[in-house]
Amino acid sequence: MFIGQQSKTQIMADYARYVNPGRASVFKQLGFDIVPGRREGVWVWDVDGDRKFINCRCGEIFNLGHRPPRVVAALKAALDEVDVGDHLLMDELRAALGKRMAQLTPGDIQYSTFSPGGAEAIEIALKLARGYTGRAGVISVKGGYHGHTGFALATGEDAFRGKFGPMPPGFSKVPFGDADALEAAVNRETAAVIIETLPATAGILIPPDDYYPRARAVCDAYAAQLIIDEVQTGLGRTGRMWAIDEWGVVPDILVTGKSLGGSLYPVSATCHRPHLDAFFQKNPFIHVASFGGSALGCVAALAALDQITEPGFMEHVQTMGERFEQGFHELRRRYPLVAGWRRRGLMIGFELAEPRMGPAMVAALAQNGVLAIFANYRLSTLQIKPPLIIQPGEVDFVLEAMDRSLAFLTAHPEFVELIPQVGVM
Ligand code: PLP
Repeated sequence: MFIGQQSKTQIMADYARYVNPGRASVFKQLGFDIVPGRREGVWVWDVDGDRKFINCRCGEIFNLGHRPPRVVAALKAALDEVDVGDHLLMDELRAALGKRMAQLTPGDIQYSTFSPGGAEAIEIALKLARGYTGRAGVISVKGGYHGHTGFALATGEDAFRGKFGPMPPGFSKVPFGDADALEAAVNRETAAVIIETLPATAGILIPPDDYYPRARAVCDAYAAQLIIDEVQTGLGRTGRMWAIDEWGVVPDILVTGKSLGGSLYPVSATCHRPHLDAFFQKNPFIHVASFGGSALGCVAALAALDQITEPGFMEHVQTMGERFEQGFHELRRRYPLVAGWRRRGLMIGFELAEPRMGPAMVAALAQNGVLAIFANYRLSTLQIKPPLIIQPGEVDFVLEAMDRSLAFLTAHPEFVELIPQVGVM
């Protein structure tokens, strides 16, 4: 009824004409002339039905795969009873999701504010930290990414924020994983330190063991708020509920989104500890959003969380991650192009020998049935983030596609020159 009503050629022409010609042209140059049509589980089919792909590109949105049956059923049923809800009033479903988040988030995190997207959830985190502390300073990490709206954008790199004039004051950056640098930067002007637990755009980096405990300690010493961005790394991606659980550190604010809505309804959450609520209690209407915590989004999130918290779910993520790693050892033995990898669960940064190889590998993989993406600020890193429901045979499919792609790039070094240096995408 909705898919395949137009030919692929027509869709691409209309997209280029009415949506975004610049993007259409980059996709063409990268060999990404894919228009998702049918989608199910880990797979998406090109709209003309000729090719299918495993989606490892934005698997963190599709943790439960495309159109997870359980969430589809919950949403279909909900349409007979609820709508988006009235965002200002108290709401049964928002209360239920808030309670569930309090149970699932680390330590004494108790309150949740809901939004449609990750960037908005980050805005709330930064507003809350600034409002509560009365300070302006926000320290983020180099190569990090928290979204493309106001304060979130200000935490990021100039590649995305440089063309929009002066950013709000108070934002500064330190290298990720360097606790000495962080300790030197935090002071009595610091409202918040914001870090994505394993920064994806920086190359899925894994910090030294003492990094997060020291980040926590320095925030405590200066009463700065520690914001942990789990928009990608949370909800089982690393084989734990939250990636930060590995270090046993409780942030003041934890932000989640993407697959929270089971890939069917946009919903995100900014979850904070009790002390911060003093600010919202004084200012209960300081942040409102028409679609913040829509009732339908809450239904989707509750169904998705039921699936993620089922016994065996995290073990499955760990087992599939290990299966990938076994395959990587073999790939490294055979191809000098493979420099290594960094992995937690199914959050994988696969390191190639040089920066131009990331985009080239993305293009080669697309020809072999796998959608993946390089890390924006570390082009040598291929990000592999499949849906968490991936099965052993599908892991092997990805590994075989990597094998064929590496063989192709080894035999055709000139291919790298043909790939546009896309920089940011
Ligand atoms: N934080 C992280 C770590 C992200 O990866 C993203 C999006 O990719 C965001 C925040 C922003 O989320 P959204 O795209 O839903 O606004």
